[in-house]
Amino acid sequence: MRVALTFDAEHPSRSQCPSGAAGELVASLASAGVRATFFIQGRWATAYPLLARSVAATGHLIGSHSHFHAPLPNLTDRGLSDDLEKAETAVWHITGVDPRPWFRCPFGDGANDPRVVGALAERGYRHVPWSVAASDWEDERTAQSVEDDTVDQTLAFGDGAIVLLHTWPAPTVAALPGILKRLRLAGAQFVTVGELFGSRNRG
Ligand SMILES: [Zn+2]
Repeated sequence: MRVALTFDAEHPSRSQCPSGAAGELVASLASAGVRATFFIQGRWATAYPLLARSVAATGHLIGSHSHFHAPLPNLTDRGLSDDLEKAETAVWHITGVDPRPWFRCPFGDGANDPRVVGALAERGYRHVPWSVAASDWEDERTAQSVEDDTVDQTLAFGDGAIVLLHTWPAPTVAALPGILKRLRLAGAQFVTVGELFGSRNRG
């Protein structure tokens, strides 16, 4: 059973976001020998260049998560292409990795909007959806509920599950070791979305 863990690396928008959360996640993944996929917001990479670089340097697949993290359908055509370009420049220059073709729409908004999908494709991107989400971005979530829901939903989905997590919530940091352990015991093989879809970063 292949499982692709994905982390949206972005400026937090809620209260449970201790500094150092992203670094702890990267360390947990490293100690478990797990490669994941990180969709990096351009402005986040600019604010935390060492952290963004360490994500790439530890072997995770890198994608773009836009620059300003605005709902993409709200942007004009010009705004859309500016945002994609700014994010690409920031992520590529800071991590050394061309994020194409991997992209995750902020909030998943625009994934079914032909104008957004077209703008992404024109720049060489595809939106990567998810099949498992434990709502780790919600303030009331606990580590136990994030762990249990992630494990249960992943096992229910089976082979090829793509798990949505974020780099900033405290419950996610606390839940990750248990998620890795329980899914492994259940036979999970952790892969990047590139391995799942059979392709790699261009750069
Ligand atoms: Zn996001």
